[in-house]
Amino acid sequence: MKINPLIEVAREFETPSYVYDAEIIQRQYKTLKNAFDGIDVKLHYALKALNNINVLRVLKKEGAGLDAVSIQEIHLGLRAGYLPNQIMFTPNCVDFSEITEAVEIGVHINIDNLAILENFGNIYGSKIPVCIRINPHIMAGGHSNISVGHIDSKFGISIHQVKHIARVAKNYGIVINGLHMHTGSDILDADVFIRGAELLYEAAQEFPDLTFLDFGSGFKVAYKEHDIITPIDKIGKKIADSFRNFCKEYGRDLELWFEPGKFIVSESGKLLVTVTTVKQTTSTVFVGVNSGQNHLIRPMFYNAHHHIENISNPTGVLKLYSVVGYICESDTLGYDRMISEVREGDILAIHNAGAYGFSMSNQYNARLRPAEVLIMNKKAQLIRKRETLEDIYRNEVELKELT
Ligand SMILES: *Cc1c(COP(=O)(O)O)cnc(C)c1O
Repeated sequence: MKINPLIEVAREFETPSYVYDAEIIQRQYKTLKNAFDGIDVKLHYALKALNNINVLRVLKKEGAGLDAVSIQEIHLGLRAGYLPNQIMFTPNCVDFSEITEAVEIGVHINIDNLAILENFGNIYGSKIPVCIRINPHIMAGGHSNISVGHIDSKFGISIHQVKHIARVAKNYGIVINGLHMHTGSDILDADVFIRGAELLYEAAQEFPDLTFLDFGSGFKVAYKEHDIITPIDKIGKKIADSFRNFCKEYGRDLELWFEPGKFIVSESGKLLVTVTTVKQTTSTVFVGVNSGQNHLIRPMFYNAHHHIENISNPTGVLKLYSVVGYICESDTLGYDRMISEVREGDILAIHNAGAYGFSMSNQYNARLRPAEVLIMNKKAQLIRKRETLEDIYRNEVELKELT
């Protein structure tokens, strides 16, 4: 029987650990980069999905830029070696001082609020060009927490306010160099994407100084077998065609930008956990593991399906289980799953854990965040140490009068 190499990784680095495969990250980057029918698209990786410095460097070598949503993410990008002009800053509801700092660093600025645009114009006038985040009010994305382009969303400036944006820009002399939309994750339908794009093309006619259009992200990957995924090739071809037409009408060739997160890193990552408990109850057989929603919150937060594989008993008979975590709170990682027979001590691999896994982890129940491991050139290497108890109380301040 062939032993899954991840068993070796689990033995060497222990569990729970996040393991990423650099080759898959590179493959996904290239797939998207080449999907647009000869158009040299610029991809800014949305580092909120997974921000380990080594992952950022793998993507930097591929030629990626970054999309940052906080000043801290900008600093992570700079630390990984990205140049300011390779970073797009797309904040929402941040203090203006964050925008000022980002301007001083020299990254691209994306503004998603008219009041901030006016403030920006007052301070910088025509000195610093900005991109505008438009809310096209199209419904995209599966779960309401990840659909951000609809009418009630807090993101972006309404497509219906385009004329107002143009007037503000004119009055303050602001140079609008880009238009942006990001309607949410899990777009399944090429037509939804195209509809958003067409709205942006129309809005673009109000802005003579554009150098790029940024279509955000939302590319879906398969979380389970037979999952419907974003048809990248179909979308790529359609967008490329419509973008070429747009450039002709606009009278100039613009750059086409995207900012994928999940598409780039989701499939590269697995969370390796150890089975602590196999517990038959009146309703099901629970498999308890040494991890939980503190490490991978997507199943509880988005009702996300993550395939779960028993890598230490791959040929065992398939049985029905509910895989649960150790957090004292509802903590299901996978409900009603057919998994090859699970025994205490088995290692389970939870798939599609590269995006929004480690980056959304926390210390609830005073649990330690897992280690991170990168497999590259056939070698597995530690890229983040497992936390220790000291990480939990490091910033706590003990009051004298209570000791
Ligand atoms: C989160 C985010 C992304 C990435 O979304 P994915 O679904 O992970 O590809 C892109 N752009 C912005 C502005 C975001 O907030």
